[in-house]
Amino acid sequence: MSNERFLRVVNYHYVRDLPNSNYPRIKGLHINAFRSQVKALQARYIMATMEQTMAFLSGEFQPSRDLCLLTFDDGLKEHYSIVTPYLAENNIQGLFFLTTACIEEHSVLSVHKNHFLMASLEFQEYRNAFLTNLAKISPETNTHVDPIKAAATYRFDTQDVAELKLLLNFHLNDSLRQQVLDGLFQQYLGDEFLFAQELYVDWNEARAMQELGMILGGHSHRHIPLPKLGDAGQREDLRISTELLRKRLLPQQHLPFSYPYGNPVASFNEITIGALQELGYSCAFTTQVNPNAATQDWFLLNRFDTVDVKF
Ligand SMILES: [Zn+2]
Repeated sequence: MSNERFLRVVNYHYVRDLPNSNYPRIKGLHINAFRSQVKALQARYIMATMEQTMAFLSGEFQPSRDLCLLTFDDGLKEHYSIVTPYLAENNIQGLFFLTTACIEEHSVLSVHKNHFLMASLEFQEYRNAFLTNLAKISPETNTHVDPIKAAATYRFDTQDVAELKLLLNFHLNDSLRQQVLDGLFQQYLGDEFLFAQELYVDWNEARAMQELGMILGGHSHRHIPLPKLGDAGQREDLRISTELLRKRLLPQQHLPFSYPYGNPVASFNEITIGALQELGYSCAFTTQVNPNAATQDWFLLNRFDTVDVKF
């Protein structure tokens, strides 16, 4: 059908004035590049709200052009200080997904510890420090990962970075990864509590974003690939996270979700989807790169990464 319409969802993480920030090597999008990308998207698509997105997926809304929806993972401070003011000025509604443990406990996710350590140290130095600490704590751990799986999971990284990330995020058990990273983080980056306060939004800022028209959603409590927690464990993580969102945020008609890590192979399963539906989520986003037809499953919404968007 030639007049079939699609919903294109674009996902963002760090959006910063990178050269003037404390960690210029962090893998993020420069604010100017963000602004020009949004302008280009706005010229080409109808910038969708949460409500229009759900109406489109219900078949109740047939837009005159394709839709574009902007999403932001991890509840980063710049989503409040840089992104929200810009979107509000341009009458665009963004969806922002919060990892509740970070805000509630002022803890830094191990995935972010890894980003900032990699931005602070030369890769070989980091890799050596990581493997040395790992061998000290747990000499019996096998550090080999499948190179093809690594490349497929981390499309935007070089091979050795992708393999270290796969080892770290998927192969090591949580307490071991945590121990190694905590040691390195303290050694190179200092106090985690203060770092978390600068890295993530707080609840006041989250509510202020809602007041400016933004939609907030869930991204789990601890940002661990949910199936790794087991059936009961992932239900519990999602229950805690959702309770916090409902208690701390202003009421919203729709509560969306973004799967931590997002790739359909290891980031969620049917238990995850069932739990999200029971908890009252409206829809959930993966990182599967594709546009969405109106018939797309509401809990398997595809997203482009910002670097996939070419103009
Ligand atoms: Zn995330």
